[in-house]
Amino acid sequence: LDRKVKQNLLEEGNFINYKKMSENLAVVRNRLNRPLTLTEKILYSHLDNPHEQDIERGVSYLRLRPDRVACQDATAQMAILQFMSAGMPSVANPTTVHCDHLIEAQIGGEKDLERAVNINKEVYDFLASACAKYNIGFWKPGSGIIHQIILENYAFPGGLLIGTDSHTPNAAGLGMAAIGVGGADAVDVMANLPWELKAPKVIGVKLTGALSGWTTPKDVILKLAGILTVKGGTGSIVEYYGEGAEALSCTGKATCGNMGAEIGATTSVFPYDKAMFDYLVATKRSEIAEFAKVYQKELRADEGAEYDQHIEINLNELEPHINGPFTPDLATPISKFAQAAKENNWPEELKVGLIGSCTNSSYEDMTRAASIARDALNHGLKAKSAFVVTPGSEQIRATIARDGQLQTFEEFGGTVLANACGPCIGQWDRRDTPKGTPNSILSSYNRNFTGRNDGNPATHSFVTSPDLVVAMSIAGSLSFNPLTDTLKDKDGKEFKLQAPTGAGLPERGYDPGQNTYQAPPADRATVQVQVSPSSDRLQVLSPFNAWDGKDATDMPILIKAQGKTTTDHISMAGPWLKYRGHLDNISNNMLIGAINAANGEANKVQNFTTGEWGAVPAVARDYKAKGIRWVVVGDWNYGEGSSREHAALEPRHLGGLAIITRSFARIHETNLKKQGMLPLTFSDPADYDKLNPDDKVDILCTELAVGKPITMKVHPKNGKDFEIKLSHTFNEAQIEWFKNGSALNTMAKNAKN
Ligand code: SF4
Repeated sequence: LDRKVKQNLLEEGNFINYKKMSENLAVVRNRLNRPLTLTEKILYSHLDNPHEQDIERGVSYLRLRPDRVACQDATAQMAILQFMSAGMPSVANPTTVHCDHLIEAQIGGEKDLERAVNINKEVYDFLASACAKYNIGFWKPGSGIIHQIILENYAFPGGLLIGTDSHTPNAAGLGMAAIGVGGADAVDVMANLPWELKAPKVIGVKLTGALSGWTTPKDVILKLAGILTVKGGTGSIVEYYGEGAEALSCTGKATCGNMGAEIGATTSVFPYDKAMFDYLVATKRSEIAEFAKVYQKELRADEGAEYDQHIEINLNELEPHINGPFTPDLATPISKFAQAAKENNWPEELKVGLIGSCTNSSYEDMTRAASIARDALNHGLKAKSAFVVTPGSEQIRATIARDGQLQTFEEFGGTVLANACGPCIGQWDRRDTPKGTPNSILSSYNRNFTGRNDGNPATHSFVTSPDLVVAMSIAGSLSFNPLTDTLKDKDGKEFKLQAPTGAGLPERGYDPGQNTYQAPPADRATVQVQVSPSSDRLQVLSPFNAWDGKDATDMPILIKAQGKTTTDHISMAGPWLKYRGHLDNISNNMLIGAINAANGEANKVQNFTTGEWGAVPAVARDYKAKGIRWVVVGDWNYGEGSSREHAALEPRHLGGLAIITRSFARIHETNLKKQGMLPLTFSDPADYDKLNPDDKVDILCTELAVGKPITMKVHPKNGKDFEIKLSHTFNEAQIEWFKNGSALNTMAKNAKN
């Protein structure tokens, strides 16, 4: 295990550390003295401190050291801006950025890409220059979708990756534990802080038998989504094993891992096997393939390892499935689908069939899909529905262009879009159906929530394998079952489509296509990060001020929020997404969804300095301008929802000092600490009721110490002063974050010393 094997072909100096991983595992094994699942092996081998870390599945919080970080262009902006404010010369762990989310599908690949490059120029320029400056690999627009690029270049067996996108688990195809996170987590790892994850439970999924005919790896996860529902995987990692798992191609495994996000799973893993070996060799990484063989024992579960939940799926009996509409867990086998469509009044005509995306655009997917299209063409038929192809990467596009599948799709009537997310993330200027008109579309994507693809809430969006998308696009109907039904050829003669055939890997190897990668330059000192001062989408962050060392007195309550206050109430999405890279602009959405206990209304609070009622962000800005710090009072589970770091950055930016609640959602609580805020809870939750929105409060920050409550003095507008005890969960290191103004300030300070 002593060998120096590089993580990938693109970076120097980043090695696969199986030796260290195996040493960590030995420590943990000694302590736990029980067989370990593969999930546990990957995670525990990445522990920051295997000797002292508490380890209890579903209970303890693991402090981990991931091997890599990946960011997509929408989430990378704030992550990098925050990283920049730490003042470090380069990222501490290997990181890549991928331009895939901002490209709108309109006419077809080249033109759409050109338009996107113009529209998003300032964002791309910023990302490209920041990546060059901080030693980050940059994948230009047109390179492909983050998860495909990761599988093709960076994923390796037993590795741990975090990515700022929910479908990061796609790297399961190569036996990596790849986990989707928020930007704040990515910044931690970029800045060399350990990353925290609640020790996941493990769901064992045994696959027996083998796929055949029209059934594909996608059907495994479609079926599993039906069994577990969209919540069933929460807090768990899905661990596949068994002969059926081994028989899936590497890219088929990736599809299962990818869509595991739809059942809420933290990620999915597969044991290292021949399919992964072959894929590594095909993508020119034989050295990694061989090295993983040496470490193979730790790339599968120990004999007798126990799962928290167990499911078995027999691939011999598995039918192709179609899931939807509106939710990915409404799973219907193809044999029952026509009936279900009729009974539920799903629009029968299939308007658009879409294949590709990060979920299903492997060579195997494309060759199988093309074999069906070719079969139809041989009978003189084309797609009746509109048909759209999104290649997952430039490498896939170039390879299927060389090998002819792309031409088959075009002959079939298809439009080939840019190598990007496109219609999968709503970047689709769809013109065939007016908004509001009920209609059906079928895709090989992973997510089909209302309006996701085209912004039309009446669109019935279904997800399935690329095979069924093509077959049903030929019939143009939801009631067609290619396994049993016939079509009429150009002469009116009936025929049945043949079951698809395809190649797992290209016989002639992959064609890399155009070079779309920008490696960081060796000399980065002179690189200037490009942010226009007049930009309304990007703004360089200034480090937050350090604590002044004093108690904070006479602070107003900006808002006493009542009831559910999620990260969406604190920092809304929708039209605000545009400003993700501009903290001051996006702060205009701060808490606008929270309900004010004073009047039961959203976004209407009283400014104590003027007596007037105004929008929450406007009042906060007025206080900030007058040098007045403020607090927020919140209810139960404040900040639940997502890990959106803007929900913590905004109150800090607009002058907040503390958020005082009955309880916090844990991720948001940690995010607040990272930004130098004080998340505090009423030691007695009933004290929430003692506070009036127009009270003033003192917070005795000087009392802040591990495990000790701190005092809040309350000065009611009318009535006598009283004291309330507030609890907190700060540890020593986190108290330093508060003192220094933020976790990043602390990192920067430590880096200097
Ligand atoms: Fe996300 Fe879709 Fe892009 Fe995949 S293709 S990364 S699911 S938006």
